[in-house]
Amino acid sequence: MSARRLDGRALAERWRDDVAREAQAFAASAGREPRLAVVLATDDDAASTYAAAKMRTAQALGVQVDLVRIAGPKTASLVETVERLGADEGVDGILIETPVALGVDLRAAQDAIPAAKDVDGASTQSLGRLFSGQTGFVPATAAAVIALLDGYGVEIAGRRAVVVGRSLVVGRPLGQLLLARDATVTVCHSRTGDLGAVTREADVVCMAVGRPRFLTGSMVRPGAVVVDVGTNVVGGKLVGDADFDSVAAVASAVSPVPGGVGPLTTLLVLENVARAARQRCGQAGL
Ligand code: NAP
Repeated sequence: MSARRLDGRALAERWRDDVAREAQAFAASAGREPRLAVVLATDDDAASTYAAAKMRTAQALGVQVDLVRIAGPKTASLVETVERLGADEGVDGILIETPVALGVDLRAAQDAIPAAKDVDGASTQSLGRLFSGQTGFVPATAAAVIALLDGYGVEIAGRRAVVVGRSLVVGRPLGQLLLARDATVTVCHSRTGDLGAVTREADVVCMAVGRPRFLTGSMVRPGAVVVDVGTNVVGGKLVGDADFDSVAAVASAVSPVPGGVGPLTTLLVLENVARAARQRCGQAGL
């Protein structure tokens, strides 16, 4: 079987104009661009790379991104910074880039983000709203998986979905979003026994583990759809959690890494910034 490529980059390319229009609509009435503060509480190169990528995309769409670096990060200074940005009328969205420095309490800092500015749905409050079925911002990576499936017309309702990974950033919120769309959902983790037997049951497999090429073709039911959230650097190259070639030989569709979930994640965060800006200013049409 030759699998269809779930090309997130192409989808993002098509949706960019919609996001740019939202940003422009806000700018036209507010006299300034929507503004996202990206907080960097680490010297980690990966976090800086993610932030720089967001800045590049944002610039082209008319969303302003401010990098807020915290020197010698400590939980107290991070929380203080987030609270200051939360109170700043000129800031519409706040995102704490991960990973943060060792020993920093990320949860405390995320919980300091006001719900109206929590554009990556990271706080306990935002997650609670998602898990209790209320509207609000949801983690962008999880939302990007759903956007990718929808963008390619993959049926979700009534299908068996397996999510591998149970982090609060990806696995758990994704499980919840799939459940809200009427999939029958299993969430797996490092203690799951015979993972292959579970993934082979799935119509849709979503990988969010952080282990290069972990899911192989023999773990996939013929005709299943595989969405790969994983981003792992191997020999200087970005690879996913799925072994693309062996999976593509069995699956009906598979998302590549890079070029799958990632570009949509960035776009959804920026769309949320434009939306947060308009909501905070009481603008309708959202
Ligand atoms: P994480 O917090 O490290 O969580 C990894 C999850 O995988 C955990 O739930 C862990 O189980 C599970 N796991 C580890 N080894 C396993 C195994 N052998 N079998 C089954 N499950 C196993 O990672 P994350 O933040 O969710 O990120 C996951 C991946 O997505 C990473 O590669 C990350 O870089 C990528 N990511 C991509 C984007 C994007 O926009 N494309 C955004 C965010 C993250 P336990 O809970 O039992 O430890």
